[in-house]
Amino acid sequence: MAEQIGFIGLGIMGQGMARNLLRAGFDLVVWNRTRSKMDALVSEGASAAGSPAELARACDIVITCVSDTPDVEAVVLGENGAIHGLREGSLLIDMSTISPKVTREIAARLAERGVYMLDAPVSGGSEGAARGTLSIMVGGEADQVSRAMPVLEAMGKTITHVGGHGAGQTVKLVNQILVVVNMLAVGEGLLFAQAGGLDLQKTLDAVTQGAAGSWMLSNRGPQVIARDWRPGFTIDLQQKDLRLVLEAADENGVPLLGTALVFQLYRTLQQAGLGSEGNHALVKALERLAGFTAG
Ligand code: NAP
Repeated sequence: MAEQIGFIGLGIMGQGMARNLLRAGFDLVVWNRTRSKMDALVSEGASAAGSPAELARACDIVITCVSDTPDVEAVVLGENGAIHGLREGSLLIDMSTISPKVTREIAARLAERGVYMLDAPVSGGSEGAARGTLSIMVGGEADQVSRAMPVLEAMGKTITHVGGHGAGQTVKLVNQILVVVNMLAVGEGLLFAQAGGLDLQKTLDAVTQGAAGSWMLSNRGPQVIARDWRPGFTIDLQQKDLRLVLEAADENGVPLLGTALVFQLYRTLQQAGLGSEGNHALVKALERLAGFTAG
């Protein structure tokens, strides 16, 4: 018999991910703190639970996708948290981006009750969540990864088992270092082009397919030129992830000069009230220092 699935956290990401589980034919129970966000999925065939604990009592596999580390702790370990309903042998898959260290602590707490855990953070944005094309980085035991695979395949395209508990979160943070330092380079490149009197679109056309090409350059470079700051991923959420990176780097004693610089630049934009703009608005921090804009 197919395992009963529960989904906690129907935000921008969770809505699309849960819908893809329904489309794949899974029986789905959902819970969201703001109850109205459950309505659309219930009308599409999911059933609504009254709390994470109630959801967990009805499920074999419980998925969480909430904002930050304390939020996962609240819905899993808190009052009425999933831990109070999870049975021995059941599996919790956390798909939020949170602290690798706290992930390992939560996994240990669940293991005391015979409950398994995988950390399975994602990359690919709201578009990837809606289309079921997310990249999913999974940490935990191999047999539980195999167990979870049909569920993960309903939500993602590239699913990589990268190591034990917390390894998925650590790889996600590697992803975030690459994204933001890359965006810093895109911003510097465009400002330098502007100062040199270049046509910015022609500059992008000339360099995008060469050795300097990247997803950020191809997708966010044109948005910068168009001064289109709509978010794929907001500065506020990006900053949350960079805080997680720098905390983990501190624990591991590794210097991250570029990432720390970008963290401070994003802070200036948050203080200017731009936290809900897209992470490519990083260029605005550079423009303020330069005294002119790109485009
Ligand atoms: P979001 O739209 O802000 O949704 C956050 C969800 O978490 C909502 O369902 C919210 O409930 C719930 N939540 C937050 N704190 C809670 C708490 N203390 N107790 C119970 N529920 C709580 O965020 P999102 O974009 O879906 O992101 C979710 C996770 O995916 C984050 O860790 C994010 O970093 C990661 N992620 C996001 C993207 C992206 O492009 N958006 C890409 C990759 C990874 P309410 O509805 O009641 O507020």
